[in-house]
Amino acid sequence: MAQAFEALSAWQVMLAGLLFFGGIYLLFGAVTWLLTHHILPALGIGRPLDPRPLAPGQLRRELAQSGVSVLLFGTGMIFPWGLLKLGWARLDPDAGWGRITLEILFLLAWNDVHFWINHRLLHTRLLRRFHLPHHRSVVTTPFSTYSFHPLEALMLGNVILLPMVVHDFSFWSLFSVPLFSLFFNCVGHANYDFFPGVSYSHWFAASRRHHLHHACYHGNYGFQFTFMDRLFGTRLAADAADAQLRTHARRQTAQGHAS
Ligand SMILES: [Zn+2]
Ligand SMILES: [Zn+2]
Repeated sequence: MAQAFEALSAWQVMLAGLLFFGGIYLLFGAVTWLLTHHILPALGIGRPLDPRPLAPGQLRRELAQSGVSVLLFGTGMIFPWGLLKLGWARLDPDAGWGRITLEILFLLAWNDVHFWINHRLLHTRLLRRFHLPHHRSVVTTPFSTYSFHPLEALMLGNVILLPMVVHDFSFWSLFSVPLFSLFFNCVGHANYDFFPGVSYSHWFAASRRHHLHHACYHGNYGFQFTFMDRLFGTRLAADAADAQLRTHARRQTAQGHAS
């Protein structure tokens, strides 16, 4: 697989990238939507998090913004391919499954570090205007996952480049990054608590934490894990959005009485 990837032409790499990122975005988004809006509620598993309605035209906006990100991620495949072509990085074709597992575990942790740093930078005064397009989704959906300003897409999309130049990864380890990243991203933006029984700090409560990030804006900058927010003291309390959700519930009740 490694040789086949390196043997592609620049245009083929970009076309394959576009099809790959467009395909996984639509597939993962649609499956998560189906699970969280139909299948899991019907089975009585989990519960929705933010009960407020989506903004008018939200899904259309998320799909349009994500289309631009898919364009950047897809054509951006030229960068890892270019590193290989130039000999600045190498793929290890002989890595066994033990090595590949270790590499994936490392990339899982690195992805959280890389995401926290870039996300925290996007919340500074200098860069926040490039992050607001993502935060226009206050109540998130599985299609919010790639809904970024192009600059944010470029910042987040370069996650594998630095590891590639310092270590010869297996093709499959690097291939796993966009897959697990989008999977966790869909979970994070699903606006659905899949495991209401686990504690707020549990790995399985990532959707609760990212829902709070969108509801409160500041805090919980991490991705799937909590170690970066714990290290830098940027965790939100589990009840951080309770006041605004109670206000919404009160308004709903008042409207119900009025009508
Ligand atoms: Zn943010
Ligand atoms: Zn988000």
